[in-house]
Amino acid sequence: LFISYVHNERVQAISHVAASLAHEVRNPLTSVMGFLKLIRNPSLPREKVDQYIDVCTEELVRMQTILSEYLAVSRPLGKHREEIDLSEQIHAVADVMTPYANMNNVKLVVDDGSMSVRVESNRDEMKQLLINFIKNAIEACSNRSDGMVVIRLLASNHEAGLLIKDNGIGMSPEQIERLGTVYFSTKSTGTGLGLTFSYQLIRSLGGRVTVRSEPENGTEFIIRLPVSSARS
Ligand code: ADP
Ligand code: MG
Repeated sequence: LFISYVHNERVQAISHVAASLAHEVRNPLTSVMGFLKLIRNPSLPREKVDQYIDVCTEELVRMQTILSEYLAVSRPLGKHREEIDLSEQIHAVADVMTPYANMNNVKLVVDDGSMSVRVESNRDEMKQLLINFIKNAIEACSNRSDGMVVIRLLASNHEAGLLIKDNGIGMSPEQIERLGTVYFSTKSTGTGLGLTFSYQLIRSLGGRVTVRSEPENGTEFIIRLPVSSARS
């Protein structure tokens, strides 16, 4: 009886994930198929072909994001941790995210205060965490003309602080309350899994997050992580 109970719970959990994943992936998939059909038309002008290929690429990138967000929350956190230079990681991620910021007319500013702050984490997971916060900040600003995201490194003796600030749409107290819970999203194409993973990771590293936000006025996240005690 017990085994079948556990089995049922698992099947239910899997069905739930499968259903929402299918739901997320179906729209971009349908869109790519539609545009491929259009591109097939031999008399389609070259600029239309280029335009449709751009759309397809965007949709495929979206699918890639959805899959990596689902994978990140469903996989156990990586056992392999190493010392990471936060400033280095932030710059690397900012480079990766710059085209996305440009696409959304958002200025991305990195201020590392020329500090070398080291934390202990799985490298890929720390990168994913940074991407998640920065991506959200960019998306929060996407509807304004003077959107700006500032990423600042703060440090004390025991803690690394990472501030991610935007002047975007902001959040209500009710929304702030729900941050990090599975599937919480206010976006039409959001998975609501980015912060679930990020909060999990921060907790597992012994860190914490504080949020200040106001509707219409933007949001400020501060992530605090214990600094690495290893000597190099
Ligand atoms: P998703 O981005 O797929 O919606 P996330 O887990 O990354 O999922 O974020 C969950 C929700 O938290 C977002 O849908 C949004 O409502 C809110 N949020 C997160 N970061 C910000 C931000 N910088 N500004 C405003 N809202 C935010
Ligand atoms: Mg997100």
